Amino acid sequence: MNSLLLNTDGVQIPQLGFGVWQVPDDEAERAVTTAFQAGYRHIDTARLYYNEEGVGRAFRKSGLPREKAFITTKLWNADHGRAEEAFEESLARLGLDYVDLYLIHWPVPDQDKYIQAWKSLEKIYRNGRARAIGVSNFNVEHLTRLIDEAEITPSINQIELHPNFPQTALRAFHEANGILTEAWSPLGQGKGLLNDPALATLAGKHGKSPAQIVLRWHIQLGNVVIPKSVTPARIKENIQVFDFTLDPEDMAAIGALNNGTRLGPDPANFNWMG
Ligand code: NAD
Repeated sequence: MNSLLLNTDGVQIPQLGFGVWQVPDDEAERAVTTAFQAGYRHIDTARLYYNEEGVGRAFRKSGLPREKAFITTKLWNADHGRAEEAFEESLARLGLDYVDLYLIHWPVPDQDKYIQAWKSLEKIYRNGRARAIGVSNFNVEHLTRLIDEAEITPSINQIELHPNFPQTALRAFHEANGILTEAWSPLGQGKGLLNDPALATLAGKHGKSPAQIVLRWHIQLGNVVIPKSVTPARIKENIQVFDFTLDPEDMAAIGALNNGTRLGPDPANFNWMG
């Protein structure tokens, strides 16, 4: 498994992880157990997913030493003003004494508390309770303000990114500022994208599935990816993307699928409190 270096004290993040959004707690335990067995070592959950407990149970059942698993969770929007308490609650649900990565889930600009929340994340990081800290769904505008007002630059920004919405400008901003790009909904939520004939052609060429072609595109762009599935065969399929390489013309053909389609909300005006 490839790992990428975060901008924090030598912390390595496995480039491909396993996401558990919209997976109920018991099912998350089963899916994460399958994922660990298939070789995943990086799990992406959040307070809002209501499955931190299931993720924690799957980790304990795996028998893996703590340092072999990379576990991310996220601060929910309603908790920006109480980040340290919310973090401790997440740790308790996970049954861990530290996480590998803690993210602010959304900036919620209307609420205007993300700078306050980030200062709490800096404390959590300094106390060794999170090995790395970052953000999610931050636009250039939010990142610029954060970098200006904070002591620590976020190590990663987890954003919606797939071939139909490749986030070229934001990726360039990340690169210029030493921030890793992590792609959520990397498969476009398995909706129309995976049926695109261009992907079928590349799948035939490489003897891989359309999902594997898309995941390989992310890997070659340098994105961290966290595909989700609860189907054991797909969980296994989605990690088999390190044994082939897309040619430059394949990368360009996937790049041409950009049609500006965002599947999720626009972070500039998303202020749902859950
Ligand atoms: P995804 O792009 O990973 O798509 C998942 C869906 O694709 C599955 O439910 C299934 O229907 C299909 N699929 C998966 N593997 C397949 C395969 N091999 N062949 C065919 N179809 C397949 O979408 P996602 O769940 O939205 O995103 C992944 C993860 O990103 C989430 O689980 C979560 O951890 C994270 N996420 C974060 C945010 C955020 O705001 N930070 C938002 C959404 C998702």
